[in-house]
Parts: sequence; structure tokens; C-alpha cells
Amino acid sequence: MKQLYALLLCGSLSLCVFDLHAQTIAVKAGHVIKPATGEVLDQQILLIKDGLIAGIQEASEPFTADTLIDLSDSWLSPGLMDCHVHLTSNMSYRHFDYLQRYAQESNAFRALRGVQNAKLLLHGGFTAVKEIGNDGDYATADLIKAIRMGWVEGPHIQYAGKIIAPFGGQTSNVAPLSGAHWQREYLDADTQDEIRKAIRKNIYYGANTIKLVTGDQRYFYSEEDIAAAVQEAQMAGIKVAVHAGGGAPAKNAILGGAASIEHGFFLDKDLLQLMKEKGTVLVGTDFYTTNLHAYGADSLQMNTLYNSIRDRLKMAYELGVEMAFGTDVIIDIEGKNRLESNLEILKTWKEAGIPPMHILKCMTTNAAALLGVTEQYGAIKENLMADLVAYKDSPLEDIENIKSVHFVMKGGTIVRND
Ligand SMILES: [Zn+2]
Repeated sequence: MKQLYALLLCGSLSLCVFDLHAQTIAVKAGHVIKPATGEVLDQQILLIKDGLIAGIQEASEPFTADTLIDLSDSWLSPGLMDCHVHLTSNMSYRHFDYLQRYAQESNAFRALRGVQNAKLLLHGGFTAVKEIGNDGDYATADLIKAIRMGWVEGPHIQYAGKIIAPFGGQTSNVAPLSGAHWQREYLDADTQDEIRKAIRKNIYYGANTIKLVTGDQRYFYSEEDIAAAVQEAQMAGIKVAVHAGGGAPAKNAILGGAASIEHGFFLDKDLLQLMKEKGTVLVGTDFYTTNLHAYGADSLQMNTLYNSIRDRLKMAYELGVEMAFGTDVIIDIEGKNRLESNLEILKTWKEAGIPPMHILKCMTTNAAALLGVTEQYGAIKENLMADLVAYKDSPLEDIENIKSVHFVMKGGTIVRND
């Protein structure tokens, strides 16, 4: 029956990669972290069957299993989630230039970069990500298929397709003779009909979430435009994320019913309060100084922007705004890979004074709620997918200890155990 349930569950999830085990795996965990409640349970046994968590019990109680994985010295958490990634994107170090990738990178090359980054993130403990656009001509749709076929390793991927924005996407000052090259990654949509059409196009090509950008041009979306997008997406059962810095574009997005504000570096107290009232999630993509430096910021720009990001993060936390972890890195730090560059962002969370348990909650519980997957994964709970990560050192002592990951399981399949 459980196997049938697993098959049915898998059939309902277009992105799920499922490895059906006939056998029972017992995972013996020294400390099980439950970010949803803030609890830590010591010496537990998790029984994994058919890719799901079939049971949780005290290690002292009897159990039967075909295989035992001994993590009795480790800290176990639900699989981590990153709600804002660009797996197929990278630009040259300290050279932020959209045109470079359009001129020099094929769609196949973009997908291959995605293969590399998907594996890095999964092995780093991120069992689910939200891929939020800038992926060429739907390169991630192919990456998702390859992961599903078992050709390559990667996390569960929720996928936005092309970014929907007013004319010009996020570019500026492109000479007319150069053509509208941004359309390789953006759908120009200036009216509500165009927004609705763009959403349908994305869904057709594989999207199961939607991303709008507003505020990067002098013309930006009205509250009614956002509401039209939210309504159109809702008809397909999916959510709308809106990239906005702050001010009127962000206010329109919040009032229009966006599920999340991405970045929001310049959100003030009133807008954060409004987000709290409306239940809008902040995916703050809180760049650390090293990330900003990699993007080409000089030291004055870097410090000014960093202070603003950190202070906004602190204020959002203190006001009780719902937050989900997101990174947004599209330029790796010199000498660091994508995972390492992403994890620099934890330093911002630390410097904003946010407790490690709350950061883990933003990386699991809150992220799962935003992704709308709480019935499938995101917690260590019976009948959810066995997406598990174990660390040698306690992430509750220092959140950067998630870098001590040595065991990852996704959907009951062991990704690494070292
Ligand atoms: Zn982004």
C-alpha cells in the first residue's frame, strides 16, 4: 500500500525524482533538528521505506531494517532549500554584463553549467531549490528532465521559466541595432493581457512558479497588473514571486498579492509591516560583502549596500515578517564554487543577529511553505519524502556549520555518506 501511495504521490509531482526502495533503511541520528517547532530530539531512529519517512522512534526501542546508517554523532535536519537560484547563470568575476552570456553562451552550455551547480548544491545539503529565471531559452527545463531521468544528480527544482517584465527586461541602454537580445531570458509584458500570455507560455515550457521583475525600468507594474498575474497563475495552481527593491513597485507587488518579494533591499519599516499583514514572504537574497565585491561593487558601494541589506534583514526578523532563505548568486566569488559563494550569505544572517534555529526554519519549514510542498517534503515527519542532511558540527551553535555536511539523502536515495 505504501508503495502504491508513493507511486501516486510521485505521479502528482512533475519534478519528483523517486527511487523506490523495497528495503527499509534505518538512520540512527544523534540529534534530530526540527526547525518547525525549534525542538532537538536526541538518539532517534528514522525508518525509510519507499523513499518516505515511514517511522520515527527512540533509538532504544526495537526496530527491524535491512540497512543501518549510523549518524549517532551527527546533527540531522530536513533537506535544505534555497528559494532563489540561477543554476545555469554565471558572469565573469567583477563584470556584471548580461550581454556577455547572450553573445558567448549557447543554451547547451547553460544547461551544462546547470548540471554542475545542481550537483554542487545537492551535495551541499540543498535537496530543493527554486530556479527563478535567467536560464537562456528554458535550459533548466531540460536540466529538470535530466535529473528526473536519473542522468544527472540534482535537487527538486521548482522552476519559473523566463522572467516576465516590462519591455527591456532588466537591461538598459541597449542600442536598437543590437536587437532585443534580452528576450532570450525575458518575456516582455506591458499589459495585463501580455502578462497572462507570458504566464501561459512559461507554464507550457515547464514552469511551475512565476517570476515578475518590477522597478528595474522607469515604468513598473501597477497593483492591478500584479493582481492579474496572481490570478492567472492561481488558475494553474502556482504562485507569483516578484523581484522588487522597495518603494512603489514593491508596494504594488505586496498589495497585488505576490507570494514573495525577492531581494527587497530597500524595503522600509512600513512596507515590511505591510508584508507581515498580507503574509508576503521575504526572500531577501542577502548578499554578503564578498558577494557584492564579486559583482564589481567598489568598497563604498559594497559597504553602503551591505549595511542596508543587513539592517533590512534584521528589521524584517524583528517585525516577524515571514522569510525564506534565498541566495541569487550569478557571479561566483573568486576561488569559490557556486555552493561556497551562496553560503557566504549566511554571514549576513549571522551579522543581522538571527538565531541559527530561525535561519534553519527559513531554509526548511518556511521555504517548503512558500514552495507549496509541505505535503511532500520539508520536514522530518512520517509520510514525507526522506530528504535529510547530517552535519558533523552543530548548525545550532554556528549556522555556518552546515558546511560540515557529510550525509545527504534525497527521496530515500543516499546522495553522499562520508
Ligand atoms: Zn535573481
